[in-house]
Amino acid sequence: MKTLADLFEHTLQDVYYAEHALTKALKTMQGAAGSAELKTAFADHLKETKEQIRILDQVFSMTGVEARGEKCDAIDGIIKEGEGVIEESEGVARDAGLIAAAQAAEHYEIARYGTLKEWAVALGHDEVAAQLDRILMQEKACNNKLTALAVDSINKAPRKRAAPKK
Ligand code: FE
Ligand code: FE
Ligand code: FE
Repeated sequence: MKTLADLFEHTLQDVYYAEHALTKALKTMQGAAGSAELKTAFADHLKETKEQIRILDQVFSMTGVEARGEKCDAIDGIIKEGEGVIEESEGVARDAGLIAAAQAAEHYEIARYGTLKEWAVALGHDEVAAQLDRILMQEKACNNKLTALAVDSINKAPRKRAAPKK
């Protein structure tokens, strides 16, 4: 990669891979969540994620970049960590852990789309930048929603505390 256009192309394919991987992960997290509100939040973001893939398809055709995913080790690692939470926790701990794992994914996406949007601006693709900004806003809103769910309900649920050590 030598140019900003090369980087843009590579990173666009990286997020395309990430969105497809997250489609599967969100279904798993929806199934694993105990709280009805949290299940709904994952279901809603799954719908948005499918819409984001359609937006990315448009961006590929607008920029002439080949519409394919490029393996993203970062999102694979974040998803793997989330699967570990599901295996190793239950009850309130699982819901709080799922929120934490999902927010790691949202932060990854926010970082990538923020960068991609600015690269699109720099490359003179204003309409592409506007489409990427739409996705960026959805990722930020999802992250804020998860924070509110954690702070206003999940973290307040009765929980078992470890007995104090003697
Ligand atoms: Fe996304
Ligand atoms: Fe990546
Ligand atoms: Fe997302």
